[in-house]
Amino acid sequence: MSFGTYSGSALDWSRRGRGSEAATRETYAVIPGAGLAVQFRLVVDREQMYSHPGTQDARWRGSKAMSTISSIEWTEATWNPVRGCSRVSPGCEHCYAERMAHRFSGPGAPYEGLTTIGKRGPRWTGRVQLVHDALREPLSWRRPRLVFVNSMGDLFHDSVPLEFIVSVFETMRRAHWHTFQVLTKRAERLAQVAAAFPWPENVWMGVSVESRAYQQRIDLLRRVPAHVRFLSLEPLLEGLPHLDLTGIDWAIVGGESGPGARPLEEQWVRDIFLQCRAASVPFFFKQWGGVRKKEAGRLLDGRTYDEMPTVRVVDRSQRVSA
Ligand code: SF4
Repeated sequence: MSFGTYSGSALDWSRRGRGSEAATRETYAVIPGAGLAVQFRLVVDREQMYSHPGTQDARWRGSKAMSTISSIEWTEATWNPVRGCSRVSPGCEHCYAERMAHRFSGPGAPYEGLTTIGKRGPRWTGRVQLVHDALREPLSWRRPRLVFVNSMGDLFHDSVPLEFIVSVFETMRRAHWHTFQVLTKRAERLAQVAAAFPWPENVWMGVSVESRAYQQRIDLLRRVPAHVRFLSLEPLLEGLPHLDLTGIDWAIVGGESGPGARPLEEQWVRDIFLQCRAASVPFFFKQWGGVRKKEAGRLLDGRTYDEMPTVRVVDRSQRVSA
């Protein structure tokens, strides 16, 4: 007996109920002439299949979900213990997470109630969902990997209770074989609460800065005793000629991509590159962006820049300065 035409796949959210992290993927192979459909069923993580920007596929060991593999250039996997957000600055204007979340915001879907549709497209409602079931996920991923924490929201959103953030940090501390990359635009709250966490070596902390008006986020990041502090200068909306890179261990630069993408000027990128070189800060050029980002690529002067930070040893007795 051989399998015939692949007839498609279907998703069934209802079998496991709302709030479950597992969904069922059903694949049917039709045996021609016999009128039979052989059904295969794989248990997958909802997050893996639906809810992460850049997610390409999932890895499997038997039927057990391993983690969410990301196509974001500077990480390997994503982990979303918090879902949902609200816009905070111009860099949020074309929030990819908001658009992705809206695609999966129907009844029973993971982002139900977290987005709405307005005249200008999907918008976060401002509601944030704490995914308690996801808190321990990284502990079950055996292979060490770089994990981007909260690609579908902001861990330091005002609606995320401090106790929950502490729990996220506790998981990161326990899952010491992974490296976690936490990125926020809410640097004020980060600086306010940073003393509540242990800051293990495997947690990198970063802030997003899209324009000069938000460079103070870098000063706030400097108060945080993370072993690696990094900047995501993306979507870069203007030149940043006077960056203070003191205490910064890594800089990622990228242009906006997707519908309505705002332009990135080559001079802005080159200028940040030179500042990173002068300060010995590893430089990662993610993309030129644009409506068709694959066409624009990620070469700068004919080559890619995929530099990564080295872990800095800090005084563990160091505390957050007020
Ligand atoms: S902070 Fe991040 S996730 Fe939240 S709206 Fe802005 S870009 Fe989107």
